[in-house]
Amino acid sequence: VKYVYFFGDGNAEGKGDMKNLLGGKGANLAEMTAIGLPVPPGFTITTEVCTEFYKNDRQYPASLKEEVAEHLRRIETLMGKRLGDAKKPLLVSVRSGARASMPGMMDTVLNLGLNDQTVQGVIELSGDERFAYDSYRRFIQMYSNVVLGMDGDILEHILEQAKEKRGVHQDTDLTAADLKEMVGLFKNKVKETLGREFPGDPQEQLWGAIGAVFGSWMNPRANTYRKLNNIPSEWGTAVNIQSMVFGNMGDDCATGVAFTRNPSTGEHLFFGEFLVNAQGEDVVAGTRTPQPINKAGGDGSLPSMEEVMPECYGQLMKAQQILEKHYRDMQDIEFTIEKGKLFMLQTRNGKRTANAAVKIAVDMVKEGLISERDAILRVAPEQLDQLLHPSLDPSAPKTVIAKGLPASPGAASGEVVFSADEAEAAARLGLKVILVRVETSPEDIHGMHAAQGILTARGGMTSHAAVVARGMGKCCVAGCGDIKVDYRTQQFVARDGSVIAKGDVITLDGSTGEVMKGQIPTVQAQLTGEFGELMSWVDKVRRLRVRANADTPHDAAVARKFGAEGIGLCRTEHMFFEADRIMAVREMILSEDMEGRKRALSKILPMQKGDFLGLFREMKGLPVTIRLLDPPLHEFLPQNDKDIDELASVMKVTAQDLRHKVESLHEFNPMLGHRGCRLGITFPEIYDMQVQAIMEAACQLIKDDGFEIVPEIMIPLVSEVRELAILRANAVRVADEVIARSGVKVSYLIGTMIELPRAALTADAIAVEAEFFSFGTNDLTQTTYGLSRDDAGKFLPLYVEREIFPTDPFVALDQSGVGQLVEIGCVKGRQTRPNIKLGICGEHGGEPSSVIFCHKIGLDYVSCSPFRVPIARLAAAHAVL
Ligand code: ADP
Ligand code: MG
Ligand code: MG
Repeated sequence: VKYVYFFGDGNAEGKGDMKNLLGGKGANLAEMTAIGLPVPPGFTITTEVCTEFYKNDRQYPASLKEEVAEHLRRIETLMGKRLGDAKKPLLVSVRSGARASMPGMMDTVLNLGLNDQTVQGVIELSGDERFAYDSYRRFIQMYSNVVLGMDGDILEHILEQAKEKRGVHQDTDLTAADLKEMVGLFKNKVKETLGREFPGDPQEQLWGAIGAVFGSWMNPRANTYRKLNNIPSEWGTAVNIQSMVFGNMGDDCATGVAFTRNPSTGEHLFFGEFLVNAQGEDVVAGTRTPQPINKAGGDGSLPSMEEVMPECYGQLMKAQQILEKHYRDMQDIEFTIEKGKLFMLQTRNGKRTANAAVKIAVDMVKEGLISERDAILRVAPEQLDQLLHPSLDPSAPKTVIAKGLPASPGAASGEVVFSADEAEAAARLGLKVILVRVETSPEDIHGMHAAQGILTARGGMTSHAAVVARGMGKCCVAGCGDIKVDYRTQQFVARDGSVIAKGDVITLDGSTGEVMKGQIPTVQAQLTGEFGELMSWVDKVRRLRVRANADTPHDAAVARKFGAEGIGLCRTEHMFFEADRIMAVREMILSEDMEGRKRALSKILPMQKGDFLGLFREMKGLPVTIRLLDPPLHEFLPQNDKDIDELASVMKVTAQDLRHKVESLHEFNPMLGHRGCRLGITFPEIYDMQVQAIMEAACQLIKDDGFEIVPEIMIPLVSEVRELAILRANAVRVADEVIARSGVKVSYLIGTMIELPRAALTADAIAVEAEFFSFGTNDLTQTTYGLSRDDAGKFLPLYVEREIFPTDPFVALDQSGVGQLVEIGCVKGRQTRPNIKLGICGEHGGEPSSVIFCHKIGLDYVSCSPFRVPIARLAAAHAVL
């Protein structure tokens, strides 16, 4: 087996599509080399080595040593330098790189190969003592932290002290002599702290670093990140060993990161940050404020690369254009400039906000880079969630107390917390929090996940906080120099002098970078422009229809705006809870006889008819499925003495009798109790009233407004076809009476929900009585697993965490179990009635993997909450492509 792949001097053994084997970084280093971009030579140790390493009790494959040595010799020949050579020393970086990019998860070691002898060689070759010692002290700092596991603050502190003593602020102000002294101090400190010498042997350094990269694959931070992003731990990481280029050799040197387009807005403008005379992660670390790459990308406070290094800027512009053309996607690049010459150190498809994803995809179609089909696939359905949510109401008054960088858009309000652990704890209690940090690091990911938004005092648009927040679709204001964070007193002071303590509410606007006191109201998303265009392509492609679950005209209006093609589930019970109705509903439930019930129902009828008029009007003839009353009656019962007394006087019975009646309706397990069609069987007058209201509303609108309305009347919780036969006959009788009275021609459908396993298994019989099925996957999941959603909170999270269930079955449809029942229901339903209409309602209707499943088994439509309609539309298109 080949374990090592070379790249350099225009040749590469690997390719860009070998990410599984070489990791993302390695594959793209090979690809960039092959297309002629300037990449320092190096080689990649494959992810297979990582997998074997863990399989074999942390042992490397036997042939690895020799293969690494051989490839190192190849670099040495190309560079005319040797690792450990006192005259012409080769220095390398050791970089991790998994298949999927895991920002900041594994640390890179730079300048490896330095020791007291080789540093002399570097001085001689470069003629620059300051540079040589700067590289050496950086190497000791990184290596002792990343490989030897020493707390990074210990050496950083020595550095800070030295700067203080010299009266300077920046690393770049330290002289060669300072840095040389620093190297000595660092080495002593390492020995004092770890009880052994800092390793001087370059081979030992190299293998130490390789081991650290493989070791870091299983560290807790990496595990957390993988869990959050569904990256399997079997994938492993690759290790890249690459000869160094130096951005810290003076003022004609620099290092930087850039995006070929704006990752926040999608704007087609090359965009990035850089630092003169710096190395590696200096830009991201936020120790010095980075400068913008192009003039248009900055705020004018710092000169851009375009202005200060125009020649290098030209090289970089050319490289980024080549990269975008080649990859046909927005790239996130890392580069270094050594003595005026550009070197590319990394490229990958850039993370972006949902807004940017949509804009970039649509723009690239117009630029002829990609097809409409590609554009559709470029946007992840789940990502749209970000777009569909509100932003700050521009007309709302607000007090801006500070302003930082607009690192990740959206708006968020919450109570301030200062640590990731606190954020997580608060979120568990259901609190909305804003995580405020000086800067974030990979240790904070769980807290960032739990928070509504993130505010950092330091770091640029490419800082850890910014990158991770954008990936999570979370609002983030970064690099907010206007605030002074004090962890000790648990408060921050803003520019305007306001003191914000832990627990105070603030609002962030991730699109402007503004930080505000208190909670600011928000407004709905705009669904026009590029978004509208993309969705029009989506609608051309998909086969599956998308409806919404909507109970009110308002919900229906929102659903229409998001592109719903009908209502798949109108739950009538929600209509019964309104304050002016609940009394009549209770009266109906608690009446001793049919007469009493009818009296109460006659009060509800006109209100219920009004509901349907509103709904039908809003939907303008699109299909509307109305579910007859479903929940157990006890949900409507009066809860307290005051309610009981009030109701008793209306019903002209004693409070005592009424209380007894209420008690008699108590159920031990209402979810499996007197609900759904069982109510229709025992109290037929309830469903009769509802059918009457539906049909009267439909007839009236057909007569008055000429809408073509075909009401779909849905009977819930059927387990046995005879239930449906009885209720269907009742409904037909009532509906036909209404139609006869109205004198207009109206058709209607009667169908059922398939939400019990028995219904799915006997769907062929049930289809005799049903003109449509709607799979109620919420209840079907509960009854298939035999678990109650309301009680699952005690164990379900643990099940998911321990991967006993791959995901929460109430979020993503369990395809092998519950999905199998749905499929059986479909097949059997169609056997009896080939043109039966099939759909799904329930939360799963808006979850991408479930939508794709629904497409595969041939449903006609999915129905989901209005806000998820665009997500379902996009997922339905993905299912086709
Ligand atoms: P990460 O995965 O965290 O981005 P990288 O391996 O990309 O880590 O390394 C971080 C930074 O270190 C790079 O962006 C680059 O600036 C610097 N770096 C890595 N290798 C080299 C090298 N061979 N020469 C110069 N700089 C390097
Ligand atoms: Mg890093
Ligand atoms: Mg990188």
